[in-house]
Amino acid sequence: MKNYLVLCLFISTLFLAGCIKNEVNINYKGNPAALYKNTYIKLPLGTVKPAGWLKSQLENQAAGLTGNLDDFWPDLVKSSWKGGDGEAWERGPYYLDGLVPLAYLLNDEHLISKVKTWIEPILASSRDSGWYGPLKNKDRWPLAVANKVLMQYYEASGDKRSLDVLTKYFRYLHDSKPDWPDKEWRGVRAMENAVTGYWLYRQTGEPWILETIESIQKNSSDWTTYYEKFPWDSAASADKKIPLNWGPDGLTAHVVNNAMAIKYPGLWYQQSKDERFRKAVFSGIKKYDINHGQPGGRFSGDEHLAGKNPSHGSELCSIVEYMFSLEELYAVFGENTLADRLELLAYNSLPGTTTPDMWAHQYDQQANQVLVSAAKRDWSTNGDYSNIYGLMPDFACCLANMHQGWPKFIESMWMATNDNGLALAAYGPSIVKAKVGNGQEVTVTEETNYPFNGSVKITINTIKKVEFPVDLRIPGWADSVTIKFKNKKVKVKNISTFKIKERWKDGDQINIDLPMQIRAEKSYNNSLTILRGPLCFSLRIDKEYKSVRINYDNFSYKGSMDWEINPTSAWNYGLLMNKANIMIGIKSTENPVSRYPFSDKGDMIWSADSGKYFTWTQDAPVTITTRGMIIPEWTMKNNSADVPPMSPVKPERDSEIITLVPYGCARLRITEFPVMDIVLMENLMKPGK
Ligand SMILES: [Zn+2]
Repeated sequence: MKNYLVLCLFISTLFLAGCIKNEVNINYKGNPAALYKNTYIKLPLGTVKPAGWLKSQLENQAAGLTGNLDDFWPDLVKSSWKGGDGEAWERGPYYLDGLVPLAYLLNDEHLISKVKTWIEPILASSRDSGWYGPLKNKDRWPLAVANKVLMQYYEASGDKRSLDVLTKYFRYLHDSKPDWPDKEWRGVRAMENAVTGYWLYRQTGEPWILETIESIQKNSSDWTTYYEKFPWDSAASADKKIPLNWGPDGLTAHVVNNAMAIKYPGLWYQQSKDERFRKAVFSGIKKYDINHGQPGGRFSGDEHLAGKNPSHGSELCSIVEYMFSLEELYAVFGENTLADRLELLAYNSLPGTTTPDMWAHQYDQQANQVLVSAAKRDWSTNGDYSNIYGLMPDFACCLANMHQGWPKFIESMWMATNDNGLALAAYGPSIVKAKVGNGQEVTVTEETNYPFNGSVKITINTIKKVEFPVDLRIPGWADSVTIKFKNKKVKVKNISTFKIKERWKDGDQINIDLPMQIRAEKSYNNSLTILRGPLCFSLRIDKEYKSVRINYDNFSYKGSMDWEINPTSAWNYGLLMNKANIMIGIKSTENPVSRYPFSDKGDMIWSADSGKYFTWTQDAPVTITTRGMIIPEWTMKNNSADVPPMSPVKPERDSEIITLVPYGCARLRITEFPVMDIVLMENLMKPGK
């Protein structure tokens, strides 16, 4: 077995190092020779579909805000993007950037017919000049979003008009003067156009598209130098030097701009092939972690970059945009730390900031979130309503933009490899129907309750035998992964991708066992965050939901509610952890993932509420019990938990068993826990003391 293992690792390393270089996928359009050959190719919308709990999640989203919002929110009902006389800027395109993939991933006729009520007027709006969209919009920014909508719509529907509108618009950009000022969204976000630009180039091969992108890169905000120098670091934060304004410098400290811009040097790397741009991406991500890092893969910004204090917020737009950036970057670089982070965001930060039924969302989420209410908090620039779960807390950008999170994540879970195979980028229940080898279609089904459980079963269905490789991403947190296929069993350690190249027959399986050990990561003031697989865990806090109405615009709410949430149990716990072996006294319990005890709406998986008030009443799919201790001096400050006291903390009270639930299930939570001084405790417990 040992020899076999070594051989297997050797072969897989060979595959990764050598064979791929000159291969070209004949089934999906990768980058032509003028561009860098990306590691993976994103599959067209509709190729990867959700299954299991992820399908329920999308159904919840369809039954929640996404499927209903354009029936009652005036900015969408009257949108100029669909021929009305209302909002003509970003809200229509933002909404469609999520509605289009949701509709086609669920193959939901009602949602697809909704999509068409938007797309037809947009396609009809294309003018001779190449400009398109509402007559009254003169700004290029919303078109950067609308481009992505038309790209996805083309992939799902094959409607060539979409491709024509995009080609004409890129011709317009090519032939007109650069207009990408640093003080405007269209300037700081100009390279968002490159997502569609490179895609369009892959479709059409028109060389002038690359000239257009080069002009945008050279005439818009210089994010590469920004990531190299990173002026808004912890020192700037401590000195209160982060610019909290909406001018050119403030826009570089804006959380959503940062979450979008991290992909810009990586996008440009495809064309420049200059290592400087690759380095900028990875050093930028590291600098976010060091200076503004929060649990769940994100960085803070409420709504300017806000440091590491776990009571600072991250705006929902920054979560979905960071996810999209990572999805794009993973295709380019195939670097698994990017996909590890993508899973962290998808399985923690995204669900944690909406209600399980996806009828309400926050503007700002906090790692240590002990009170959800309309109140003054220490946000950098946001308003008093920002951490309420509701329809439109604070500015309404997130209400328009949140919809892309889940659908685009699912689209990116599988990608195509250059050697005509498939790559499993992010784990989760899914079905991919794709062309492999010499163009044969196969169906690959991934059955799993991941991220709640680490057992993954992949079944390949094919009409005739076909040889193709499967790249399996080995998560960075997984110590040792067992993979079984074709009567072989391999234990994989210390590699990031395991490539299996086999001749597959109908019904062949790959079984993967990802070890879900509990681990801890150091956070603010030496506090600890507990993780298991890609899930972060938070203290279960008893709570009382209070429905409130923050009626900004006086329109009908349909199913929507605004919620304040008050704690009804203590939250100020520290952990009793044995640093040498954190597994001592800590235990996880898996509950059934699929069950419908209270609701006729299907699973509401991201719930840990045992009350009787909501459609989402359901306990968490996995819980952790451990020992904790109240820290009396840890109290609230400005309506949030104060910073965790510096660990180790002197023990003062009796220890208790506490329960942790996944971050994404916890709408009140402590995620960065102080740690009690175990040595001091042991001394205190010695006889005679
Ligand atoms: Zn937003």
